[in-house]
Amino acid sequence: MATTKKPVRKKNSTAKSNTIKLKFDTSWPYAPAPESKSAATIHKQYDLFINGEWQKPLSKKYFDTINPANEEKLSEVAEANEADVNRAVTAARTAYEQVWKKMPPKERAKYIFRIARMVQEKARELAIVETLNGGKPIRESRDFDVPTAANHFFYYAGWADKLEYAFPNRGTAPLGVAGQIIPWNFPLLMAAWKIAPALATGNTVVLKPAETTPLTALKLAEIIQEADLPPGVVNILTGAGATGAAIVNHPDINKIAFTGSTEVGKIIQRAIAGTNKRVTLELGGKAANIIFEDAPLDQAVEGVINGIFFNQGHVCCAGSRLYVQESVAKEVIRKLKDRMESLIVGDPLDKNTDIGAINSKQQLATIRKYISIGKKEGAEMYESSCPLPGKGFFCRPTLFTNVAQSNRIAKEEIFGPVLAIITFRTDDEVIEKANNSPYGLSAGVWTDKGSKIFNMTKRMRAGVVWANTFNKFDPASPFGGYKESGFGREGGLHGLLPYLELKG
Ligand code: ADP
Repeated sequence: MATTKKPVRKKNSTAKSNTIKLKFDTSWPYAPAPESKSAATIHKQYDLFINGEWQKPLSKKYFDTINPANEEKLSEVAEANEADVNRAVTAARTAYEQVWKKMPPKERAKYIFRIARMVQEKARELAIVETLNGGKPIRESRDFDVPTAANHFFYYAGWADKLEYAFPNRGTAPLGVAGQIIPWNFPLLMAAWKIAPALATGNTVVLKPAETTPLTALKLAEIIQEADLPPGVVNILTGAGATGAAIVNHPDINKIAFTGSTEVGKIIQRAIAGTNKRVTLELGGKAANIIFEDAPLDQAVEGVINGIFFNQGHVCCAGSRLYVQESVAKEVIRKLKDRMESLIVGDPLDKNTDIGAINSKQQLATIRKYISIGKKEGAEMYESSCPLPGKGFFCRPTLFTNVAQSNRIAKEEIFGPVLAIITFRTDDEVIEKANNSPYGLSAGVWTDKGSKIFNMTKRMRAGVVWANTFNKFDPASPFGGYKESGFGREGGLHGLLPYLELKG
């Protein structure tokens, strides 16, 4: 249960002992408000979802899936091997040839609408399972992940019978069987991003969730079964990298949709070189959030906090680099530190929690490695003084000042609640610095001037640029990267294209 202890100010706090107490008291404690685990059913063991049924893995292997907030086992899930992947691809091919591609689009739409409604109906349970298995705060899974996942199904259900309006005078055809591999940061939402457009365009699916967060994808399989989707149209296989590789390398897959690390994205590209498989890759990011001196600073600080600390920084579009104009840097950094002190790190199921558990022990080790690299490189570290739970994988929100553009913490994706702050003087300078990254997934601009927003967004090399806000998503809005952040777009009308052959 939640241990919402009073945050204690650090000894090195900016408040001096002989100064008047801070005008606002950031140590205001909240009573625990935990969501109930009993509203969710998690089975002891899960098999593979193939051809509309739960099938024992031919591998005969299962692996544990845990709750990263207390390291306790939640369930065990099957580990699909090549033979299991082959069964799933065969089921998907048969369903494609015999049922799904022949079905009138308006009938396909009804199934997708049904899935959307069932995701809504089971929203509470899905949010709890997402939080238990992934470590993200219940507020995030309840208010963002699950409703946005349902919205994606609603949105693409609407397109299924309107493809001729999406691509007038072109004529469209589905590709066939899509292999979809997703990461652990938005397990249900990424499954929705992948499955909804594939089904709307007439493709069938073999999807693999990440090894640390399989449970909501398996819950989605239960929904798909209950929705009576024809057997084989969606198959869900659990496993780790080897299972993903078996999907990528299966000869009867027509398209790969992958979200994950740039490293694995490159392996996939190499693996499919010379084949006629289509591919979309949504990879890493190192988003620049830029605060100009004319920005509404309190709003900007809240946006920065939201962009990097909420959801533990486990977001490929996290605003992990902050560029702040020199004239307001001191004020912004002070405000950021004050706000960091008020963030509650702890039990993800508690509705007050701002920062939940890091997804895995391995990821926590990566974050810690980068924090020590930052210190060694000479940057100045500040972490909030909040207490951390005794068990589970947790990390305090951390920021670095005096960061050089060449420092590794400013260049490499950390995927944790760690912010690197760099100052700038002019527009040209900040554009140069922000674009000087191998990544280009997202960025943010904070300013009072509309003309500056347009000027900056035109010059930023990032797939999404938010202005005076951050991390906003809508199913109608395409998302995807430049450079090593990948290619192809998901969401919106653009998100249909990777699953279609355009004729004419
Ligand atoms: P992250 O660093 O975010 O964990 P990964 O790229 O390692 O990202 O993992 C994203 C997804 O890719 C997971 O589902 C994982 O199991 C899968 N995966 C890992 N290695 C491979 C591979 N060689 N081929 C295909 N999928 C892989």
